[in-house]
Amino acid sequence: MNNSQQEQRKKIGLMGGTFDPIHIGHLILGEAAWRQFGLDEVWFLPAGNPPHKQNRAGRASDRERVEMVRLAIQSNPHFVLSLIEMNKDGYSYTYRTLERLHGQYPDADWFFIMGADSLTDFDTWREPQRIADACRIVVATRNQMEPASFRTLLAKRREEFHHDFLELDTPNLDISSKHLREMIRSGESIRYYTPDTVLNYIRQNRIYELQE
Ligand code: ATP
Ligand code: MG
Repeated sequence: MNNSQQEQRKKIGLMGGTFDPIHIGHLILGEAAWRQFGLDEVWFLPAGNPPHKQNRAGRASDRERVEMVRLAIQSNPHFVLSLIEMNKDGYSYTYRTLERLHGQYPDADWFFIMGADSLTDFDTWREPQRIADACRIVVATRNQMEPASFRTLLAKRREEFHHDFLELDTPNLDISSKHLREMIRSGESIRYYTPDTVLNYIRQNRIYELQE
């Protein structure tokens, strides 16, 4: 591939998750990947819940999770909402999403963004080799993982899957959707853990107030 062909290729980050709710951890990862890897766009891919997980007490509906992602990213011109994984019958497998995207956008290179907890269980995902073949995997530290253990895990994955697993340069962000749901349920403010637009939407729709 010559230089001008390389320049024409779009670099797109993919941030998959349940986003129940979206929080600044997800947003900071997306922005850090955009900057560090010179991405053109970062797409947020909320995953559909399978039928038995829809309308659970204390959880947001698929429609609400999508709306919260839309509200959270709307002020960022290079963040994009994609409904490709919002499958009514349940979540879609990442390898299928990536292979579909390859077919639809042959001129793009894909960077799949995840936290270290996802890298830890990556080998239990469906068809991990096909995922690694279809994108570069960008990983942020999480859960106070020791830097040495994090690098060892990245190296292990590189060796197993014969592809790049890249380290995202972010601080450890001690924040999870689960913790935010618990905070809301116990009446604590989650202000600054998620954008105000999302905060207001959660309040107005009284999401997460019931016991899970
Ligand atoms: P839950 O507590 O419900 O599991 P979560 O905060 O882990 O929610 P997910 O939607 O499960 O959010 O995460 C989507 C992706 O974002 C995963 O790859 C996860 O590792 C990553 N991620 C989420 N929060 C963080 C964080 N604070 N630091 C690093 N990675 C994160
Ligand atoms: Mg999680």
